[in-house]
Amino acid sequence: MPKLTSELSLAIESLQKGKLVAFPTETVFGLGGDATNQEAIKRIFKVKGRPSNRPLILHVPNLETVKKIVLDWSLNESKLAKKFWPGPLTLILKNGNLISQSAVAGKKTVAIRIPSHPFALSMLRSFSEIGSGIVAAPSANRFGYVSTTNARDVEFSLQNYLDETDVIVNSSPRNNCQFGLESTIVDCTTNSPKILRVGVIKKSEIESCIGKTVDVGLTEDGKIDYPGTCSSHYSPKTKFKVMTRAQIELNLSKLCEGGKTFLWYFQKPVKTSQNLTAEVAPSTAPEYGRQLYSKLNNLDRRGLNLIIFEEPPTGEDWNAICDRLEKAKSR
Ligand code: AMP
Ligand code: MG
Repeated sequence: MPKLTSELSLAIESLQKGKLVAFPTETVFGLGGDATNQEAIKRIFKVKGRPSNRPLILHVPNLETVKKIVLDWSLNESKLAKKFWPGPLTLILKNGNLISQSAVAGKKTVAIRIPSHPFALSMLRSFSEIGSGIVAAPSANRFGYVSTTNARDVEFSLQNYLDETDVIVNSSPRNNCQFGLESTIVDCTTNSPKILRVGVIKKSEIESCIGKTVDVGLTEDGKIDYPGTCSSHYSPKTKFKVMTRAQIELNLSKLCEGGKTFLWYFQKPVKTSQNLTAEVAPSTAPEYGRQLYSKLNNLDRRGLNLIIFEEPPTGEDWNAICDRLEKAKSR
């Protein structure tokens, strides 16, 4: 059993010993280990059940550390870092030779961010005084399943895979994940930066920061298999559907026939069913994003036959949410 603690010192001690720490960030909980320690990196892959060809995002306390890791630092990344760091933006840059090959899955690139969450940032700063200060951290959940945004969901997902020398940082109002969705990833290794994963920071914000339009898609070679970009991800174990209002109205009775059904709606359906529990979903994108993963994790433990979410509105604010729902429903 991993230790549940809110002590910064215990978290840092674990990192220094090459153990793992599940810690809050402003996006989701990360499963962190010292990026310069091969053993720690190996365990992250093992505990998550993550294929070894899927590179990890590195979390660092400051720009000085970023510049030690990467080969080039040019205008686009410099503008983006100035505007969005610390914060929910990950930059893909050319890898120097500081970081172990297993952390970057043998790629010539690294994914880096400086998180803004107070616990994460303090942890990284202190760890840089006594260790590398570089923490590789994918989301703290089993591979392919729903990301976690609180300590309880991390425990449910990973406690059987972590051991007593690992740490889960306890949730408290202070340790909330402010956004609840993964970072926006921007590839800066080419002349025209590209968004590899939509996230809290919007495309329009990236564009106005660097003063040019950016594409959303895969990297130039298109071959690299990115975790956040494979079609099934973020999925609950329970059968899960995202449906329009009209589809719900039309099919609700039939959908509920199979057993206990949960519906997260924006507008209450006219019909109901004995098997149905329906709740209103948050109407703003920030609040919906904050609640999405904890809602899915919670629903996934209720022994339901089916989870239905009403399709969210369109519009840039909802892009990251729609992206995650699209992948979550395609298990
Ligand atoms: P995840 O940790 O599953 O939230 O996703 C990590 C994401 O970071 C992946 O989807 C990749 O797009 C990106 N990434 C991580 N490491 C690298 C790397 N070394 N080179 C390029 N992209 C990376
Ligand atoms: Mg993940």
